[in-house]
Amino acid sequence: MNDLKHDILIIGAGVVGLTSAISLHLKGFSVGVITNRPVNQKNSKTLSPVVYALNRPSEEFLKKLKLWDNLEAKDYDHVLIWDSFHKEEVLFSGTDCAEPNLGHIVEDQKLMFSCLKSIKQYKIPIYIDETLSAIKDSKTHKIIQAEKKTYSAKLIIGADGKQSWLREQLKLGYVADDYGQTALVGLIKHQSPHFNTARQRFLPNATIALLPTKDPLHSAMIWSLPSDEAGELKKDNKKTFANHLETYWHGRMGKMSLESTLMHYELSSLHARKYGTPGAIILGDAAHVIHPLAGQGLNLGLADVMTLAEMAGQFDLSSKALLEAYTEKRHLDNIATLKAMDFFQLLFWPKHPLAVRMRAVGMRVLDALTPLKRQISLFALGYRPDVSFLESLLERLKK
Ligand SMILES: Cc1cc2nc3c(=O)[nH]c(=O)nc-3n(C[C@H](O)[C@H](O)[C@H](O)COP(=O)(O)OP(=O)(O)OC[C@H]3O[C@@H](n4cnc5c(N)ncnc54)[C@H](O)[C@@H]3O)c2cc1C
Repeated sequence: MNDLKHDILIIGAGVVGLTSAISLHLKGFSVGVITNRPVNQKNSKTLSPVVYALNRPSEEFLKKLKLWDNLEAKDYDHVLIWDSFHKEEVLFSGTDCAEPNLGHIVEDQKLMFSCLKSIKQYKIPIYIDETLSAIKDSKTHKIIQAEKKTYSAKLIIGADGKQSWLREQLKLGYVADDYGQTALVGLIKHQSPHFNTARQRFLPNATIALLPTKDPLHSAMIWSLPSDEAGELKKDNKKTFANHLETYWHGRMGKMSLESTLMHYELSSLHARKYGTPGAIILGDAAHVIHPLAGQGLNLGLADVMTLAEMAGQFDLSSKALLEAYTEKRHLDNIATLKAMDFFQLLFWPKHPLAVRMRAVGMRVLDALTPLKRQISLFALGYRPDVSFLESLLERLKK
């Protein structure tokens, strides 16, 4: 059996795994990536419905890694949220918080392509189709046993997603919540232009987001709804599906049609109890999964990568000190985001039917409260208020 040695070995070739590899390679470490499935090298010209809303720190990080120019990122200036029962709506604008825009929409396929191009340029090895069986300690390294080879590294990074193998092997534990919801994702053509606006329509037990693409007449749809209802909608043909969509948008986007296959994602949240053990750290969805309502999941993952890349040069890679410093920095931001998600859920998605009707009042209040609107916009852009501010807001809302 071959034994492959690196300073750092990354499990997972999603965006978090690949950006970790690039940023740590640029810090001078020898890096390898292991993946359990072939990586997608295509750069299709066709618009993809799988997109991410990226905030300012993510944008700056991807620019620093020289990945941004290939992304054809679409900036959006406004976010419009709109309630189901009433006509109440709230418009967030970049100008309200003195920002040129409220973020960018980036296609997953473009981001993956850009990362893989860079990985190839830097000759970072990707070991494909590996099935991992165990992780062990030697005096100085961690050893990973796989079907084809044995790998060793001073630091193992688990960027292996929601079902993380590394998290399970290290018994890090987690708290999780199944939302009982599914997100239906597809590319939508609409007759009225999107005017660089991300739209979110709140229904009694669902939300439909339309995220603007670089084509003014196409948006990426994320429709989060109870899983049984999603199952029914999936059975519809494209025409019937589009009819449902038009009904929910009250004709505001004109005629609508589904231009891609409909994808679906079961929604749950997860937060690992610990982010690692000395010599092994989990990042991205392996450590935290949140509802896509506010489009923050990958932004959190990229913040993990930035922090680790920054700290890796300051500590011994397999030291407890690195794990502790990393955990201290990231735990706070992750908790702030989780708390903010609780806040958004309470504000926009209350469980009690009466409270759903009260949401309109909440939205009217929110629209009038410019400082709170500004805080929410800044939050979505990646600027964090302190946790105590969110906690006191949550307490007041719960009363
Ligand atoms: C509907 C929806 C919309 C979203 N929209 C946004 C948004 O607008 N903005 C945003 O910031 N976030 C958004 N997110 C969240 C975002 O998609 C995730 O946070 C992000 O993709 C996580 O990336 P990751 O690299 O950590 O994990 P993944 O993308 O899951 O990648 C994990 C990788 O690890 C590999 N792997 C798994 N197990 C193993 C193993 N044992 N060995 C080797 N390899 C392994 C997998 O094959 C995969 O390539 C959204 C999520 C959903 C569901």
